[in-house]
Amino acid sequence: MPFEVYNTLTRKLEPFRTLEPGIVRMYNCGPTVYGRAHIGNFRAYLFADTLRRWLEISGYEVRQVMNITDVGHLLDDADAGEDKIEAQARKEQLDPWAISRRHTEQFFRDLEDLGCLPARVYPKASEHIPEMLEMIEGLVAKGYAYRAGEDVYYEVAKFPRYGRLSGNSVAELDAGARIDVREEKRHPADFALWKSDPHHLMKWKSRFGEHGFPGWHIECSAMARRHLGDRLDVHTGGEDNIFPHHECEIAQSEAFTGQPFATYWMHTKFLQVDGGKMSKRLGNCYSLDDVRAKGFTVRALRFCLIRGHYRQPLNFTWDILREATSVLENLDDLVVRLRRAQSGAAGAASADAGIEEVGEAMAEFRAALDDDLNVPRALAALMALRALALEERLGASAAAQALQFVVHVAQRALGCIQVEEGSLAAEVEAKIRERNAARKARDFARSDALRDDLVRLGITLEDTKAGVLWKHKDSGAGGGPIA
Ligand code: AMP
Ligand code: ZN
Repeated sequence: MPFEVYNTLTRKLEPFRTLEPGIVRMYNCGPTVYGRAHIGNFRAYLFADTLRRWLEISGYEVRQVMNITDVGHLLDDADAGEDKIEAQARKEQLDPWAISRRHTEQFFRDLEDLGCLPARVYPKASEHIPEMLEMIEGLVAKGYAYRAGEDVYYEVAKFPRYGRLSGNSVAELDAGARIDVREEKRHPADFALWKSDPHHLMKWKSRFGEHGFPGWHIECSAMARRHLGDRLDVHTGGEDNIFPHHECEIAQSEAFTGQPFATYWMHTKFLQVDGGKMSKRLGNCYSLDDVRAKGFTVRALRFCLIRGHYRQPLNFTWDILREATSVLENLDDLVVRLRRAQSGAAGAASADAGIEEVGEAMAEFRAALDDDLNVPRALAALMALRALALEERLGASAAAQALQFVVHVAQRALGCIQVEEGSLAAEVEAKIRERNAARKARDFARSDALRDDLVRLGITLEDTKAGVLWKHKDSGAGGGPIA
């Protein structure tokens, strides 16, 4: 079965085919850096990361671009309201550039902590003004855009496909709720490509006037074109980006280049909190630090945010994070058990015992991710492996095969399972300490049981004056002395 994805544009599952064999050009709408990204935003970026990981495992070279919006995103997402970054700058009495710098740096730290693989480029809107102006001037020249004073608007009526992505029609958009009706617009759905405002702090000179700044939508069209070319394979974002943002991007890019913009449009459903919207006002916009302060790991948060299907809304509560933490511990434990079974310590009859079931689970994991990144289904396949390991039904070679798969495919795809031998060391050392304590307390039954556990893990112990030395018989890992 080939990789299939759900395309918002066509509203169906489609086989994944790229413009150029073996290469995926992927653009992810990134953050507007006026505040710290919350865990809802990260659900969208983690989806992009999971998609990229699966494409790479499937053999593609992924050219991933994620933008940083540091100017032009207005408070209402359309043409009204203050620039989000300038509004924040005013609140904090800071320079807008200081605001965007601070939150961009924080964003990169958070992405890294979440285990997201770095994109090739993180273009900043403010550094692509010439590329935006080139497209805006081109759209005016081709008759898709018009000037109104020193502003420039895109005329949606000139682009018959406007509304195809979101299912809106230009007629319905007449005086629509989200759209600001302005005198100078020819149609209420027309949107700003360039706006002039002498009071705006981040502003540029252009042929349209002395102090202007770009509209949010043209930023993504121009940055995608600059870094990936006129056509993309995949464009992603959260579900709220479908309209107006992505609808407008399509109108701009396709009118300018005369070619289809992105083949696949993929959107992540929202993360909700306690069944409702995440909002600053309700105080439930959690950051990674809020998660840490509650005693959870960011690794568990990553798992919590990717384990549901990206096209299902996810309701976040501390309880589901707690539950995700324990499921993830089971996956970590799967690795430990497979290592043990691989060394022949788990006692299944023959080396090949369970080889067929392992093959089935591996095939099911792949089929699940090929099916529009069905992570829950893929996790069920890993749980089937765990059941085999728990019941000690895996011989050494079946376990070795399963282990290779979990480390090199499942973990590479999910990015949060603990697979390092380091985790073996931690487990062994904890048991040795416990054994030392049992001996001190003259609880020899307990200390013998702990030694037997270690033997089953393939560990030999050596008691020395300085403490206990340990060594793994296959991997050669070892350490100590542990007093
Ligand atoms: P913004 O910084 O507001 O431009 O949003 C950055 C990205 O996060 C966009 O792709 C949004 O669609 C996405 N996003 C915002 N809120 C949520 C949420 N609660 N759940 C999932 N994605 C979200
Ligand atoms: Zn965008």
